[in-house]
Amino acid sequence: MPRRQISRVLNNLMTNPEFSVFRRSSVAVAIGSVRVGGDAPVVVQSMTNTDTVDVKATTNQVAELAAAGSELVRITVNSAEAAAAVPAIHEGLQARNVDVPLIGDFHFNGHKLLSQNTECAQILDKYRINPGNVGRGRKKDSQFATLIEIACRYDKAVRIGANWGSLDQALVVKLMDENAKLAEPREAHEVTQEALIRSALDSAARAEELGLARDHILLSCKMSGVQDLIAVYQNLAARCDYALHLGLTEAGMGSKGIVASTVAVGVLLQQGIGDTIRISLTPDPGGSRTKEVVVAQEILQTMGLRAFAPAVVACPGCGRTTSTFFQELAQDIESFIRDRMPSWRIQYDGVESMTVAVMGCVVNGPGESKHANIGISLPGSGERPVAPVYIDGEKAMTLKGDGIAAEFQQLVERYVNEHYACKTM
Ligand code: SF4
Repeated sequence: MPRRQISRVLNNLMTNPEFSVFRRSSVAVAIGSVRVGGDAPVVVQSMTNTDTVDVKATTNQVAELAAAGSELVRITVNSAEAAAAVPAIHEGLQARNVDVPLIGDFHFNGHKLLSQNTECAQILDKYRINPGNVGRGRKKDSQFATLIEIACRYDKAVRIGANWGSLDQALVVKLMDENAKLAEPREAHEVTQEALIRSALDSAARAEELGLARDHILLSCKMSGVQDLIAVYQNLAARCDYALHLGLTEAGMGSKGIVASTVAVGVLLQQGIGDTIRISLTPDPGGSRTKEVVVAQEILQTMGLRAFAPAVVACPGCGRTTSTFFQELAQDIESFIRDRMPSWRIQYDGVESMTVAVMGCVVNGPGESKHANIGISLPGSGERPVAPVYIDGEKAMTLKGDGIAAEFQQLVERYVNEHYACKTM
């Protein structure tokens, strides 16, 4: 069979719910007011990069991430001071009417911090623990048990988050030894992948033995290589029905980080794997942390899994758009929609499904604009300096002069006002 045909058959098998060996339904977990897994939509989450001890900066960043659309926000809890800051952060968020569930990220000393800071343990909606960093030797079991007992006591969800960079070394050595004795030993990287999966699954089984309900457990097995991540999650999803947190760890900066995360997460989501996603981007110096939320939303929206904000359809431009006006207008409209979305979301039902087209010339401009709810076709080089606007497929007016950008924004605002039902407040 030709290679392309084989690949098409495999793809159909992987993506068709009736035939997929990977697709499975997961157990739903409640994290504060947010449901993850089961039939809930894939949830977007993010993590702060402020020092948690700095209550003001952390409160501001959590609020900023929540306003950008993060439905869960994780904060580092790495010291007694950080644990002590959690109640003040929570209070600050409540004062601003931000009710996003807060997740505490614990490594090495989580058992102590949660035992000694009852208020922190009660306020956090979920604990993230890393089985590779819970403790060494005999201490590991008792420290893990302490964390799980506290989660049971306060009815909290726990993510057991194994990570390639902090893999349980005792488990790796054990599996490597077992592998070496096989008649046909597997490749070392396959054994390491298995160790990552076993670390998460064995810890989850132990947590259940200790009394944590299955619907309080989420798993993740993060790696920094795209193919590794895909292989590990396919394997993990086929072996359990826990809700899965998906993300490429240490994805990197800029377009590299975005592309790597999108490819890895996109392939898995397409196969029905993953209940919540976090895009681990390294921000540019001084760049906004909210970028990771925007990218996560764009992945889900582009795949048709969720809608978060109206989509701006813009052509790439070419030799027919020799000025930067077209790019600037597309960018202005994109920012205008993002800025208006927090208030539109509260006021108007269904506004996130709107499409706005910003096109560079007459070649595809009118056609694409007619497909959008509202679209503008700018004049390309040599065309008459007028910009027809299409509303619901019909040419509604023509804009010209220096005020095109501002006038088009007003038209978009008016369209939203007139076409989306007002929510009862
Ligand atoms: S719509 Fe016009 S400006 Fe935009 S890419 Fe096509 S030909 Fe170029």
